[in-house]
Amino acid sequence: MKGTGKLFIISAPSGAGKTTLIRKVLNRFTSLSYSVSHTTRHPRTNEQEGRDYFFISPQAFEQKIAQGHWLEWAKVHGHYYGTAREFVKKSLAKGQSLLLDIDVQGAGQIMASDMDLVSIFIMPPSVDILSQRLAGRGTDNTEVITRRLENATAEMAQKDRYQYVVINDDLDEAIEALCSIFEREMGEP
Ligand code: 5GP
Repeated sequence: MKGTGKLFIISAPSGAGKTTLIRKVLNRFTSLSYSVSHTTRHPRTNEQEGRDYFFISPQAFEQKIAQGHWLEWAKVHGHYYGTAREFVKKSLAKGQSLLLDIDVQGAGQIMASDMDLVSIFIMPPSVDILSQRLAGRGTDNTEVITRRLENATAEMAQKDRYQYVVINDDLDEAIEALCSIFEREMGEP
């Protein structure tokens, strides 16, 4: 019988370069699947329903909170984000390893459960660089960037709760550091 899949959680403040790193890992480890979250925020340009997120209304999200639908959920930057419990349980049960890109609140909820998991925190090299990256992304206005920076500082204070911390200073080095964690935890790509 095939064993259960492994559950990987990656958290990072926005602007730490997490999306690029996650894409690289998923390309290299083809047996790993990305868990697409649900959110109530609006899609950014280039984001696709079902690939980046499932975009739902706050009312629908709250109804699913009441129904116990979420394995974990959190309000981040004023919007709801959540991971569907059934999807994760079923994937792991059939031997599918999963990568969850979730914030520190959601990660804390899963850490507090009895689930087996591998947790990774991605750090930007500095708050200055983080601020430059957020501004350079050009997708968010000043108010949103300020909110994200405040949130980033609070999130970085939680990094010691994670099993692994990867600093995204040099992108290639960060990719290698991250991939070696997955290699160790999952075996060969
Ligand atoms: P963004 O809006 O930039 O895509 O994501 C904002 C934050 O929400 C990121 O820190 C991301 O990790 C987090 N996030 C995305 N999906 C989920 C989720 O399903 N649950 C939780 N708790 N956080 C999520």
